Amino acid sequence: MHASIPTSSALKTVGAVLVVGGGVAGVQAALDLTELGLKVYLVEKSGAIGGVMARLDKTIAQAQAAAGRACQPLAKGSISPEPIVSHVDAELCIGCGACETFCPYKAITIDKEVKPRKAQTLTASCKGCGVCAARCPTMAIDMGRFTLEGIRAQIAAFGREIGV
Ligand code: SF4
Ligand code: SF4
Repeated sequence: MHASIPTSSALKTVGAVLVVGGGVAGVQAALDLTELGLKVYLVEKSGAIGGVMARLDKTIAQAQAAAGRACQPLAKGSISPEPIVSHVDAELCIGCGACETFCPYKAITIDKEVKPRKAQTLTASCKGCGVCAARCPTMAIDMGRFTLEGIRAQIAAFGREIGV
């Protein structure tokens, strides 16, 4: 809630003004009141005045850094993100066919002519949905950069973070 600034006639009966809060509004009110010839006491509970504005140096620096990163692909003119597709570890694959059965895009297949049977991703058709990886009984499938070891490491790090 903002108190209205007293008129000049009222000011004659008031020795000083107390402004509570050293944010932008409080500082501006204090300056306005001093311009009217009043003695102003500005009270701020924190150690510095400026309120939210005092944090803007960090915000602007972070925004500049983000803008700088965004400019890198823009400067190239185009970007080619690496697609996320499934990858079969032939060492772990037992050729059970579960991935082929459940893939909603028919993007993973087993060549019946080749022995032993191994699944193979048709990368042009794979949408990276992860259904095959979830169905694989031997965990032979990972999703691009999201390897099982990487996901386990992230879960372990999260557990340490929350003290589990
Ligand atoms: S990630 Fe999805 S689309 Fe790709 S092979 Fe596996 S189930 Fe099929
Ligand atoms: S589900 Fe796993 S083990 Fe079975 S064929 Fe596919 S990749 Fe191989």
